[in-house]
Amino acid sequence: MATRMDNVKIVPVFLGGNWIDQKADSYTNVYNPSKGELIAQTPMLTAKDVDIAIQFAKAAFPKWSGLAVPKRAEIMFRYRTLLEQNMDAIARLITLENGKTLEEARGDIRRGFEVVEFACGISQLYKGESLAHVAPNIDGQTIREPLGVCVGISPYNFPAMVPMWMFPLAIACGNTFVLKPSEKVPLTAIRLAELFQEAGLPDGVFNIVHGGKDVVDALCTHPDVAAISFVGSSQIAKHVYTLGSANGKRVQAGGGAKNALIVMPDADPESTLRAIMGSSFGCAGQRCMAGSLLVGVGEVHNQLKDRLVSNIDSMKIGDTSADDLADMGPVIDASAKNRINNVIEKVAAEGLKLVRDGRKNIPENGFFVGPTLFENVATSHSIFSEEIFGPVLSMMNPKNIEEAISWVNKLNYGNGATLFTNSGADARQFTQGIQCGMLGINVGVPAAMSIFPFSGWNESFYGDLHMQGTEGVMFYTRQKIVLSRWDSTYQRQMGW
Ligand code: NAD
Repeated sequence: MATRMDNVKIVPVFLGGNWIDQKADSYTNVYNPSKGELIAQTPMLTAKDVDIAIQFAKAAFPKWSGLAVPKRAEIMFRYRTLLEQNMDAIARLITLENGKTLEEARGDIRRGFEVVEFACGISQLYKGESLAHVAPNIDGQTIREPLGVCVGISPYNFPAMVPMWMFPLAIACGNTFVLKPSEKVPLTAIRLAELFQEAGLPDGVFNIVHGGKDVVDALCTHPDVAAISFVGSSQIAKHVYTLGSANGKRVQAGGGAKNALIVMPDADPESTLRAIMGSSFGCAGQRCMAGSLLVGVGEVHNQLKDRLVSNIDSMKIGDTSADDLADMGPVIDASAKNRINNVIEKVAAEGLKLVRDGRKNIPENGFFVGPTLFENVATSHSIFSEEIFGPVLSMMNPKNIEEAISWVNKLNYGNGATLFTNSGADARQFTQGIQCGMLGINVGVPAAMSIFPFSGWNESFYGDLHMQGTEGVMFYTRQKIVLSRWDSTYQRQMGW
Protein backbone atom coordinates (compact mmCIF):
# COMPACT_ATOMS: atom_id res chain seq x y z
CA MET A 1 0.00 0.00 0.00
CA ALA A 2 1.14 3.54 -0.74
CA THR A 3 0.19 7.08 0.25
CA ARG A 4 -1.23 9.51 -2.27
CA MET A 5 1.40 11.23 -4.39
CA ASP A 6 1.32 14.57 -6.14
CA ASN A 7 1.69 14.63 -9.92
CA VAL A 8 0.56 11.02 -10.32
CA LYS A 9 -2.71 10.14 -12.05
CA ILE A 10 -5.33 9.05 -9.50
CA VAL A 11 -7.72 6.48 -10.92
CA PRO A 12 -11.29 7.81 -10.67
CA VAL A 13 -14.40 5.96 -9.56
CA PHE A 14 -17.44 5.98 -11.84
CA LEU A 15 -20.62 6.65 -9.92
CA GLY A 16 -24.00 7.51 -11.41
CA GLY A 17 -22.36 8.59 -14.68
CA ASN A 18 -19.79 10.86 -12.94
CA TRP A 19 -16.02 10.43 -12.84
CA ILE A 20 -14.88 11.24 -9.32
CA ASP A 21 -11.48 11.50 -7.61
CA GLN A 22 -12.49 9.66 -4.43
CA LYS A 23 -10.01 10.20 -1.59
CA ALA A 24 -8.77 7.14 0.29
CA ASP A 25 -6.53 6.39 3.27
CA SER A 26 -4.26 4.27 1.10
CA TYR A 27 -3.50 3.67 -2.58
CA THR A 28 -2.17 0.83 -4.73
CA ASN A 29 0.54 1.80 -7.17
CA VAL A 30 -0.13 0.96 -10.83
CA TYR A 31 3.07 0.30 -12.78
CA ASN A 32 4.25 -0.11 -16.30
CA PRO A 33 5.71 -3.56 -15.47
CA SER A 34 8.13 -3.40 -18.42
CA LYS A 35 9.96 -0.45 -16.90
CA GLY A 36 8.93 -0.69 -13.25
CA GLU A 37 7.68 2.91 -13.52
CA LEU A 38 4.71 4.27 -11.59
CA ILE A 39 1.90 5.34 -13.94
CA ALA A 40 -1.12 5.81 -11.64
CA GLN A 41 -2.52 5.20 -8.15
CA THR A 42 -5.72 3.33 -7.32
CA PRO A 43 -7.65 4.51 -4.24
CA MET A 44 -8.33 1.64 -1.84
CA LEU A 45 -11.89 2.49 -0.82
CA THR A 46 -14.23 1.29 1.91
CA ALA A 47 -17.67 -0.22 2.54
CA LYS A 48 -19.11 3.32 2.61
CA ASP A 49 -17.98 3.91 -0.99
CA VAL A 50 -19.42 0.53 -1.99
CA ASP A 51 -22.79 1.55 -0.62
CA ILE A 52 -22.78 4.76 -2.67
CA ALA A 53 -22.05 2.80 -5.87
CA ILE A 54 -24.77 0.27 -5.12
CA GLN A 55 -27.32 2.99 -4.41
CA PHE A 56 -26.64 4.49 -7.86
CA ALA A 57 -27.03 1.07 -9.48
CA LYS A 58 -30.19 0.37 -7.49
CA ALA A 59 -31.74 3.71 -8.48
CA ALA A 60 -31.00 3.10 -12.17
CA PHE A 61 -32.46 -0.42 -12.19
CA PRO A 62 -36.24 0.22 -12.58
CA LYS A 63 -35.86 2.38 -15.68
CA TRP A 64 -33.10 0.29 -17.29
CA SER A 65 -34.84 -3.03 -16.70
CA GLY A 66 -38.05 -1.52 -18.09
CA LEU A 67 -36.43 -0.45 -21.36
CA ALA A 68 -37.56 -2.54 -24.34
CA VAL A 69 -35.02 -5.31 -24.95
CA PRO A 70 -34.22 -4.24 -28.56
CA LYS A 71 -33.49 -0.72 -27.25
CA ARG A 72 -30.91 -2.22 -24.88
CA ALA A 73 -29.50 -4.09 -27.88
CA GLU A 74 -29.18 -0.79 -29.79
CA ILE A 75 -26.84 0.53 -27.09
CA MET A 76 -24.84 -2.68 -27.23
CA PHE A 77 -24.46 -2.27 -31.00
CA ARG A 78 -23.22 1.29 -30.54
CA TYR A 79 -20.80 0.09 -27.85
CA ARG A 80 -19.55 -2.62 -30.20
CA THR A 81 -18.77 -0.01 -32.89
CA LEU A 82 -16.92 2.25 -30.45
CA LEU A 83 -14.88 -0.67 -29.13
CA GLU A 84 -13.94 -1.65 -32.66
CA GLN A 85 -12.83 1.91 -33.44
CA ASN A 86 -10.74 2.06 -30.25
CA MET A 87 -9.44 -1.50 -30.23
CA ASP A 88 -5.80 -0.70 -30.90
CA ALA A 89 -5.64 2.10 -28.33
CA ILE A 90 -7.20 -0.19 -25.72
CA ALA A 91 -4.68 -2.91 -26.57
CA ARG A 92 -1.84 -0.42 -25.97
CA LEU A 93 -3.36 0.57 -22.63
CA ILE A 94 -3.51 -3.11 -21.63
CA THR A 95 0.14 -3.52 -22.60
CA LEU A 96 1.08 -0.42 -20.62
CA GLU A 97 -0.51 -1.46 -17.33
CA ASN A 98 -0.26 -5.26 -17.58
CA GLY A 99 2.96 -5.80 -19.54
CA LYS A 100 1.68 -8.43 -22.00
CA THR A 101 2.78 -8.06 -25.63
CA LEU A 102 0.72 -5.94 -28.02
CA GLU A 103 -0.41 -9.08 -29.85
CA GLU A 104 -1.57 -10.67 -26.59
CA ALA A 105 -3.29 -7.42 -25.58
CA ARG A 106 -5.15 -7.42 -28.90
CA GLY A 107 -6.36 -10.93 -28.06
CA ASP A 108 -7.43 -9.72 -24.59
CA ILE A 109 -9.68 -6.94 -25.90
CA ARG A 110 -10.86 -9.02 -28.88
CA ARG A 111 -12.18 -11.77 -26.59
CA GLY A 112 -14.02 -9.15 -24.52
CA PHE A 113 -15.34 -7.50 -27.67
CA GLU A 114 -16.82 -10.85 -28.71
CA VAL A 115 -18.92 -10.90 -25.54
CA VAL A 116 -20.35 -7.51 -26.52
CA GLU A 117 -21.13 -8.94 -29.97
CA PHE A 118 -22.86 -11.87 -28.30
CA ALA A 119 -24.81 -9.46 -26.08
CA CYS A 120 -25.96 -7.55 -29.19
CA GLY A 121 -28.20 -10.58 -29.81
CA ILE A 122 -29.93 -10.13 -26.47
CA SER A 123 -33.43 -10.03 -28.01
CA GLN A 124 -32.95 -13.56 -29.27
CA LEU A 125 -31.06 -14.77 -26.18
CA TYR A 126 -33.65 -13.37 -23.81
CA LYS A 127 -36.67 -15.05 -25.37
CA GLY A 128 -38.60 -17.50 -23.24
CA GLU A 129 -40.37 -20.68 -24.28
CA SER A 130 -44.03 -21.40 -24.68
CA LEU A 131 -46.29 -24.38 -25.11
CA ALA A 132 -49.93 -23.94 -26.09
CA HIS A 133 -52.29 -26.60 -24.67
CA VAL A 134 -49.99 -27.73 -21.90
CA ALA A 135 -53.27 -28.92 -20.31
CA PRO A 136 -56.95 -28.53 -21.37
CA ASN A 137 -57.52 -24.76 -21.96
CA ILE A 138 -54.12 -23.98 -20.48
CA ASP A 139 -51.09 -22.45 -22.20
CA GLY A 140 -47.64 -22.28 -20.59
CA GLN A 141 -44.82 -19.79 -21.10
CA THR A 142 -41.54 -18.74 -19.53
CA ILE A 143 -40.46 -15.11 -19.14
CA ARG A 144 -36.93 -13.95 -18.30
CA GLU A 145 -36.37 -11.08 -15.89
CA PRO A 146 -33.17 -9.39 -14.68
CA LEU A 147 -31.99 -9.87 -11.10
CA GLY A 148 -31.23 -6.28 -9.99
CA VAL A 149 -27.78 -5.00 -9.01
CA CYS A 150 -25.01 -7.34 -10.15
CA VAL A 151 -21.36 -7.10 -9.16
CA GLY A 152 -18.10 -8.03 -10.93
CA ILE A 153 -14.70 -8.50 -9.29
CA SER A 154 -11.79 -9.16 -11.64
CA PRO A 155 -8.09 -10.16 -11.60
CA TYR A 156 -5.08 -8.40 -13.12
CA ASN A 157 -4.18 -10.80 -15.91
CA PHE A 158 -6.90 -9.92 -18.44
CA PRO A 159 -7.73 -6.23 -17.84
CA ALA A 160 -10.35 -6.19 -20.66
CA MET A 161 -11.53 -9.73 -21.30
CA VAL A 162 -12.43 -10.81 -17.78
CA PRO A 163 -14.49 -7.72 -16.79
CA MET A 164 -16.17 -8.10 -20.19
CA TRP A 165 -17.15 -11.69 -19.43
CA MET A 166 -19.35 -10.02 -16.85
CA PHE A 167 -20.78 -6.53 -17.34
CA PRO A 168 -21.90 -6.48 -21.02
CA LEU A 169 -24.15 -9.50 -20.69
CA ALA A 170 -25.41 -8.57 -17.21
CA ILE A 171 -26.37 -5.10 -18.47
CA ALA A 172 -27.87 -6.36 -21.75
CA CYS A 173 -30.04 -8.65 -19.59
CA GLY A 174 -31.49 -5.55 -17.88
CA ASN A 175 -29.40 -5.55 -14.70
CA THR A 176 -27.35 -2.65 -13.39
CA PHE A 177 -23.74 -3.24 -12.48
CA VAL A 178 -20.90 -2.36 -10.10
CA LEU A 179 -17.43 -3.41 -11.27
CA LYS A 180 -14.41 -3.66 -9.00
CA PRO A 181 -11.48 -4.16 -11.36
CA SER A 182 -8.09 -5.36 -10.16
CA GLU A 183 -6.42 -2.48 -8.33
CA LYS A 184 -3.25 -3.37 -10.29
CA VAL A 185 -4.79 -2.73 -13.77
CA PRO A 186 -7.71 -0.29 -13.39
CA LEU A 187 -7.00 1.93 -16.42
CA THR A 188 -8.42 -0.43 -19.05
CA ALA A 189 -11.69 -0.81 -17.12
CA ILE A 190 -11.98 2.97 -16.95
CA ARG A 191 -11.63 3.25 -20.72
CA LEU A 192 -14.20 0.48 -21.27
CA ALA A 193 -16.68 2.40 -19.10
CA GLU A 194 -16.01 5.72 -20.89
CA LEU A 195 -16.86 4.11 -24.21
CA PHE A 196 -20.01 2.48 -22.81
CA GLN A 197 -21.10 5.90 -21.55
CA GLU A 198 -20.37 7.38 -24.99
CA ALA A 199 -22.53 4.64 -26.54
CA GLY A 200 -25.50 6.10 -24.66
CA LEU A 201 -25.71 3.92 -21.57
CA PRO A 202 -27.86 5.79 -19.02
CA ASP A 203 -26.17 7.08 -15.85
CA GLY A 204 -25.96 4.63 -12.97
CA VAL A 205 -26.39 1.48 -15.07
CA PHE A 206 -22.63 0.83 -14.92
CA ASN A 207 -20.48 1.94 -11.98
CA ILE A 208 -16.88 1.31 -10.93
CA VAL A 209 -15.38 1.22 -7.43
CA HIS A 210 -11.82 0.41 -6.42
CA GLY A 211 -10.26 -1.45 -3.54
CA GLY A 212 -9.22 -4.78 -2.07
CA LYS A 213 -10.59 -7.10 0.61
CA ASP A 214 -12.73 -4.48 2.41
CA VAL A 215 -14.50 -3.49 -0.79
CA VAL A 216 -14.92 -7.09 -1.99
CA ASP A 217 -16.38 -8.20 1.35
CA ALA A 218 -18.75 -5.21 1.37
CA LEU A 219 -19.94 -6.14 -2.14
CA CYS A 220 -20.49 -9.77 -1.09
CA THR A 221 -22.57 -8.84 1.95
CA HIS A 222 -24.51 -5.77 0.78
CA PRO A 223 -28.27 -6.45 1.03
CA ASP A 224 -28.99 -4.76 -2.33
CA VAL A 225 -26.63 -6.95 -4.38
CA ALA A 226 -28.35 -9.81 -6.22
CA ALA A 227 -25.47 -11.58 -7.94
CA ILE A 228 -21.68 -11.69 -7.91
CA SER A 229 -19.28 -12.66 -10.70
CA PHE A 230 -15.72 -13.16 -9.48
CA VAL A 231 -12.50 -14.23 -11.21
CA GLY A 232 -9.17 -14.58 -9.41
CA SER A 233 -7.19 -17.08 -7.37
CA SER A 234 -8.96 -20.16 -5.95
CA GLN A 235 -8.51 -19.09 -2.35
CA ILE A 236 -10.33 -15.78 -2.91
CA ALA A 237 -12.85 -17.40 -5.30
CA LYS A 238 -13.85 -19.81 -2.53
CA HIS A 239 -14.05 -16.96 -0.02
CA VAL A 240 -16.28 -14.86 -2.33
CA TYR A 241 -18.46 -17.87 -3.13
CA THR A 242 -18.89 -18.76 0.54
CA LEU A 243 -19.51 -15.21 1.75
CA GLY A 244 -21.79 -14.25 -1.15
CA SER A 245 -23.89 -17.42 -0.97
CA ALA A 246 -24.21 -17.14 2.81
CA ASN A 247 -25.66 -13.70 2.19
CA GLY A 248 -28.23 -15.00 -0.28
CA LYS A 249 -26.54 -13.99 -3.53
CA ARG A 250 -26.12 -15.89 -6.76
CA VAL A 251 -22.36 -16.40 -7.17
CA GLN A 252 -20.13 -17.59 -10.01
CA ALA A 253 -16.46 -17.58 -9.02
CA GLY A 254 -13.61 -18.62 -11.31
CA GLY A 255 -10.40 -19.66 -9.54
CA GLY A 256 -6.82 -20.68 -10.29
CA ALA A 257 -5.56 -23.49 -12.45
CA LYS A 258 -2.84 -25.96 -13.36
CA ASN A 259 -3.22 -26.98 -16.98
CA ALA A 260 -1.61 -29.95 -18.69
CA LEU A 261 -0.46 -30.29 -22.27
CA ILE A 262 -0.23 -33.99 -23.18
CA VAL A 263 1.82 -34.74 -26.29
CA MET A 264 1.56 -38.10 -28.07
CA PRO A 265 4.45 -39.39 -30.21
CA ASP A 266 2.33 -39.06 -33.37
CA ALA A 267 1.60 -35.34 -32.85
CA ASP A 268 2.70 -32.91 -35.57
CA PRO A 269 6.06 -31.63 -34.26
CA GLU A 270 5.99 -28.07 -35.68
CA SER A 271 2.45 -26.99 -34.81
CA THR A 272 2.65 -28.73 -31.42
CA LEU A 273 5.83 -26.89 -30.46
CA ARG A 274 4.34 -23.54 -31.52
CA ALA A 275 1.23 -24.25 -29.46
CA ILE A 276 3.28 -25.24 -26.38
CA MET A 277 5.40 -22.08 -26.56
CA GLY A 278 2.30 -19.88 -26.86
CA SER A 279 0.41 -21.68 -24.12
CA SER A 280 3.23 -21.84 -21.56
CA PHE A 281 5.05 -18.56 -22.09
CA GLY A 282 2.32 -16.38 -23.64
CA CYS A 283 1.32 -13.55 -21.28
CA ALA A 284 4.46 -14.56 -19.31
CA GLY A 285 2.53 -17.61 -18.08
CA GLN A 286 -0.07 -15.40 -16.41
CA ARG A 287 -3.14 -16.99 -17.97
CA CYS A 288 -5.61 -19.18 -16.11
CA MET A 289 -5.43 -21.41 -19.22
CA ALA A 290 -1.62 -21.42 -19.47
CA GLY A 291 -0.09 -24.85 -20.03
CA SER A 292 2.23 -25.38 -17.07
CA LEU A 293 2.66 -29.19 -17.19
CA LEU A 294 4.15 -30.62 -20.38
CA VAL A 295 3.32 -34.31 -20.38
CA GLY A 296 5.34 -35.87 -23.23
CA VAL A 297 4.26 -39.50 -23.64
CA GLY A 298 7.04 -42.07 -24.21
CA GLU A 299 9.86 -41.22 -26.60
CA VAL A 300 8.44 -37.81 -27.64
CA HIS A 301 9.65 -36.35 -24.33
CA ASN A 302 13.32 -36.05 -25.28
CA GLN A 303 12.63 -34.72 -28.77
CA LEU A 304 10.33 -32.09 -27.28
CA LYS A 305 12.91 -31.06 -24.72
CA ASP A 306 15.65 -30.37 -27.27
CA ARG A 307 13.38 -28.36 -29.51
CA LEU A 308 11.83 -26.46 -26.62
CA VAL A 309 15.23 -25.41 -25.30
CA SER A 310 16.26 -24.07 -28.68
CA ASN A 311 12.97 -22.14 -29.00
CA ILE A 312 13.31 -20.74 -25.48
CA ASP A 313 16.85 -19.60 -26.20
CA SER A 314 15.72 -17.65 -29.25
CA MET A 315 12.89 -15.81 -27.47
CA LYS A 316 13.03 -12.04 -27.35
CA ILE A 317 12.09 -10.90 -23.85
CA GLY A 318 11.67 -7.18 -23.51
CA ASP A 319 9.85 -3.92 -22.88
CA THR A 320 6.45 -4.53 -24.47
CA SER A 321 5.49 -0.87 -24.04
CA ALA A 322 8.30 0.16 -26.40
CA ASP A 323 8.81 -2.92 -28.60
CA ASP A 324 5.79 -4.32 -30.47
CA LEU A 325 7.83 -7.32 -31.56
CA ALA A 326 8.88 -8.61 -28.12
CA ASP A 327 7.95 -12.31 -27.73
CA MET A 328 7.38 -12.09 -23.99
CA GLY A 329 6.90 -9.29 -21.48
CA PRO A 330 7.29 -8.98 -17.70
CA VAL A 331 5.14 -10.32 -14.87
CA ILE A 332 2.80 -7.91 -13.16
CA ASP A 333 4.87 -6.50 -10.28
CA ALA A 334 7.90 -6.91 -8.06
CA SER A 335 6.07 -9.13 -5.63
CA ALA A 336 5.03 -11.55 -8.44
CA LYS A 337 8.62 -11.61 -9.66
CA ASN A 338 9.98 -12.39 -6.18
CA ARG A 339 7.33 -15.03 -5.58
CA ILE A 340 8.11 -16.85 -8.85
CA ASN A 341 11.87 -16.61 -8.29
CA ASN A 342 11.39 -18.12 -4.83
CA VAL A 343 9.39 -21.00 -6.34
CA ILE A 344 12.18 -21.66 -8.85
CA GLU A 345 14.72 -21.70 -6.03
CA LYS A 346 12.60 -24.00 -3.84
CA VAL A 347 11.86 -26.47 -6.64
CA ALA A 348 15.49 -26.58 -7.74
CA ALA A 349 16.41 -27.28 -4.09
CA GLU A 350 14.02 -30.26 -4.15
CA GLY A 351 16.46 -31.79 -6.65
CA LEU A 352 14.53 -31.27 -9.88
CA LYS A 353 16.61 -30.54 -12.96
CA LEU A 354 16.41 -26.87 -13.96
CA VAL A 355 16.87 -27.02 -17.73
CA ARG A 356 16.35 -23.27 -18.23
CA ASP A 357 16.43 -20.74 -15.38
CA GLY A 358 14.24 -17.63 -15.81
CA ARG A 359 16.20 -15.73 -13.18
CA LYS A 360 19.01 -15.34 -15.70
CA ASN A 361 19.42 -13.33 -18.92
CA ILE A 362 16.55 -10.91 -18.32
CA PRO A 363 16.24 -7.14 -18.80
CA GLU A 364 17.58 -5.13 -15.88
CA ASN A 365 14.60 -2.83 -15.38
CA GLY A 366 11.02 -3.92 -14.95
CA PHE A 367 9.57 -7.08 -13.41
CA PHE A 368 10.96 -9.78 -15.68
CA VAL A 369 11.14 -13.53 -15.18
CA GLY A 370 12.43 -15.46 -18.17
CA PRO A 371 11.05 -18.77 -19.53
CA THR A 372 11.89 -21.55 -17.09
CA LEU A 373 11.93 -25.29 -17.72
CA PHE A 374 12.02 -28.10 -15.13
CA GLU A 375 12.48 -31.77 -16.02
CA ASN A 376 11.57 -35.09 -14.36
CA VAL A 377 8.59 -33.72 -12.47
CA ALA A 378 6.46 -36.35 -10.71
CA THR A 379 2.98 -36.08 -9.20
CA SER A 380 4.57 -36.07 -5.72
CA HIS A 381 6.48 -32.82 -6.35
CA SER A 382 4.96 -29.56 -5.12
CA ILE A 383 5.39 -27.97 -8.56
CA PHE A 384 3.05 -30.60 -10.04
CA SER A 385 0.00 -29.31 -8.21
CA GLU A 386 0.80 -25.67 -7.25
CA GLU A 387 -0.30 -22.84 -9.50
CA ILE A 388 2.81 -20.72 -10.18
CA PHE A 389 1.23 -18.17 -12.54
CA GLY A 390 4.46 -17.32 -14.29
CA PRO A 391 6.53 -18.58 -17.24
CA VAL A 392 7.53 -21.87 -15.60
CA LEU A 393 6.97 -25.15 -17.44
CA SER A 394 7.38 -28.61 -15.86
CA MET A 395 8.11 -31.65 -18.01
CA MET A 396 6.71 -35.09 -17.17
CA ASN A 397 7.24 -38.37 -18.99
CA PRO A 398 4.49 -41.01 -18.66
CA LYS A 399 4.68 -44.36 -20.47
CA ASN A 400 1.34 -44.10 -22.24
CA ILE A 401 -1.86 -42.09 -22.53
CA GLU A 402 -3.56 -43.98 -19.68
CA GLU A 403 -0.77 -43.02 -17.30
CA ALA A 404 -0.83 -39.41 -18.59
CA ILE A 405 -4.58 -39.09 -17.99
CA SER A 406 -4.35 -40.66 -14.53
CA TRP A 407 -1.60 -38.18 -13.54
CA VAL A 408 -3.52 -35.16 -14.82
CA ASN A 409 -6.63 -36.33 -12.98
CA LYS A 410 -4.73 -36.08 -9.68
CA LEU A 411 -4.83 -32.27 -9.96
CA ASN A 412 -7.35 -30.46 -7.77
CA TYR A 413 -7.96 -27.81 -10.42
CA GLY A 414 -9.98 -28.38 -13.60
CA ASN A 415 -9.73 -25.44 -15.97
CA GLY A 416 -7.98 -26.68 -19.11
CA ALA A 417 -6.12 -29.65 -20.63
CA THR A 418 -4.93 -30.32 -24.15
CA LEU A 419 -3.95 -33.42 -26.10
CA PHE A 420 -1.69 -33.18 -29.15
CA THR A 421 -2.22 -36.18 -31.39
CA ASN A 422 -3.11 -37.46 -34.82
CA SER A 423 -5.23 -40.29 -33.43
CA GLY A 424 -9.00 -39.96 -33.14
CA ALA A 425 -9.06 -42.89 -30.71
CA ASP A 426 -6.59 -41.18 -28.35
CA ALA A 427 -8.52 -37.92 -28.66
CA ARG A 428 -11.69 -39.74 -27.69
CA GLN A 429 -10.06 -41.49 -24.73
CA PHE A 430 -8.69 -38.13 -23.54
CA THR A 431 -12.00 -36.28 -24.00
CA GLN A 432 -13.91 -38.87 -22.03
CA GLY A 433 -11.30 -39.62 -19.38
CA ILE A 434 -10.10 -36.15 -18.27
CA GLN A 435 -11.73 -34.53 -15.24
CA CYS A 436 -11.57 -30.98 -16.46
CA GLY A 437 -13.94 -28.43 -17.97
CA MET A 438 -12.20 -27.03 -21.09
CA LEU A 439 -10.37 -29.42 -23.40
CA GLY A 440 -8.20 -28.85 -26.44
CA ILE A 441 -7.34 -31.32 -29.18
CA ASN A 442 -4.27 -29.80 -30.88
CA VAL A 443 -5.27 -26.41 -29.40
CA GLY A 444 -2.74 -24.95 -26.94
CA VAL A 445 -5.12 -22.61 -25.09
CA PRO A 446 -8.63 -24.10 -25.24
CA ALA A 447 -10.25 -21.01 -23.69
CA ALA A 448 -13.97 -20.94 -24.45
CA MET A 449 -15.13 -18.13 -26.77
CA SER A 450 -18.08 -15.86 -25.94
CA ILE A 451 -20.74 -18.20 -27.31
CA PHE A 452 -19.61 -20.99 -24.94
CA PRO A 453 -19.48 -21.00 -21.14
CA PHE A 454 -15.99 -20.53 -19.65
CA SER A 455 -16.32 -23.88 -18.05
CA GLY A 456 -13.84 -24.46 -15.20
CA TRP A 457 -14.36 -27.45 -12.89
CA ASN A 458 -13.28 -28.46 -9.39
CA GLU A 459 -11.17 -25.81 -7.60
CA SER A 460 -11.08 -23.72 -10.78
CA PHE A 461 -14.73 -22.77 -10.36
CA TYR A 462 -17.17 -22.31 -7.49
CA GLY A 463 -20.82 -22.07 -8.44
CA ASP A 464 -23.14 -23.57 -10.99
CA LEU A 465 -23.67 -21.35 -14.06
CA HIS A 466 -20.46 -20.21 -15.75
CA MET A 467 -19.62 -16.88 -17.41
CA GLN A 468 -20.38 -16.27 -21.12
CA GLY A 469 -22.70 -18.05 -23.52
CA THR A 470 -26.25 -18.99 -22.68
CA GLU A 471 -25.13 -19.99 -19.16
CA GLY A 472 -24.22 -16.32 -18.72
CA VAL A 473 -27.74 -15.28 -19.75
CA MET A 474 -29.19 -17.79 -17.31
CA PHE A 475 -26.93 -16.55 -14.52
CA TYR A 476 -28.00 -12.92 -14.99
CA THR A 477 -31.75 -13.63 -15.28
CA ARG A 478 -34.47 -15.51 -13.47
CA GLN A 479 -37.57 -17.00 -14.99
CA LYS A 480 -41.27 -16.77 -14.43
CA ILE A 481 -43.49 -19.63 -15.57
CA VAL A 482 -46.94 -18.39 -16.58
CA LEU A 483 -49.83 -20.83 -16.93
CA SER A 484 -52.96 -19.22 -18.46
CA ARG A 485 -56.43 -20.76 -18.65
CA TRP A 486 -58.83 -19.21 -21.18
CA ASP A 487 -62.06 -20.91 -22.08
CA SER A 488 -62.90 -19.79 -25.66
CA THR A 489 -65.78 -20.32 -28.07
CA TYR A 490 -63.32 -21.74 -30.59
CA GLN A 491 -62.24 -24.42 -28.15
CA ARG A 492 -65.85 -25.35 -27.37
CA GLN A 493 -66.64 -25.56 -31.10
CA MET A 494 -63.63 -27.84 -31.61
CA GLY A 495 -64.73 -29.98 -28.70
CA TRP A 496 -61.33 -29.56 -26.88
P1 NAD B 1 -6.49 -12.40 -6.78
O1 NAD B 1 -7.33 -13.52 -6.27
O2 NAD B 1 -5.34 -11.96 -5.97
O3 NAD B 1 -7.41 -11.09 -7.00
C1 NAD B 1 -8.63 -11.16 -7.70
C2 NAD B 1 -9.56 -10.07 -7.16
O4 NAD B 1 -9.80 -10.33 -5.77
C3 NAD B 1 -8.96 -8.67 -7.26
O5 NAD B 1 -9.95 -7.77 -7.70
C4 NAD B 1 -8.50 -8.38 -5.82
O6 NAD B 1 -8.59 -7.01 -5.49
C5 NAD B 1 -9.47 -9.19 -4.99
N1 NAD B 1 -8.86 -9.66 -3.73
C6 NAD B 1 -7.54 -9.89 -3.50
N2 NAD B 1 -7.37 -10.34 -2.23
C7 NAD B 1 -8.58 -10.41 -1.67
C8 NAD B 1 -9.05 -10.83 -0.39
N3 NAD B 1 -8.23 -11.26 0.56
N4 NAD B 1 -10.39 -10.81 -0.15
C9 NAD B 1 -11.25 -10.38 -1.11
N5 NAD B 1 -10.85 -9.97 -2.34
C10 NAD B 1 -9.54 -9.99 -2.64
O7 NAD B 1 -6.06 -12.80 -8.27
P2 NAD B 1 -5.03 -12.06 -9.23
O8 NAD B 1 -3.66 -12.25 -8.68
O9 NAD B 1 -5.50 -10.71 -9.55
O10 NAD B 1 -5.20 -12.94 -10.55
C11 NAD B 1 -4.54 -14.17 -10.77
C12 NAD B 1 -5.41 -15.35 -10.44
O11 NAD B 1 -6.62 -15.29 -11.18
C13 NAD B 1 -4.75 -16.67 -10.83
O12 NAD B 1 -4.95 -17.60 -9.80
C14 NAD B 1 -5.50 -17.08 -12.09
O13 NAD B 1 -5.49 -18.46 -12.35
C15 NAD B 1 -6.86 -16.57 -11.78
N6 NAD B 1 -7.68 -16.43 -12.98
C16 NAD B 1 -8.69 -17.32 -13.17
C17 NAD B 1 -9.48 -17.25 -14.30
C18 NAD B 1 -10.60 -18.23 -14.51
O14 NAD B 1 -11.38 -18.05 -15.44
N7 NAD B 1 -10.76 -19.25 -13.70
C19 NAD B 1 -9.23 -16.25 -15.26
C20 NAD B 1 -8.20 -15.33 -15.03
C21 NAD B 1 -7.43 -15.44 -13.87
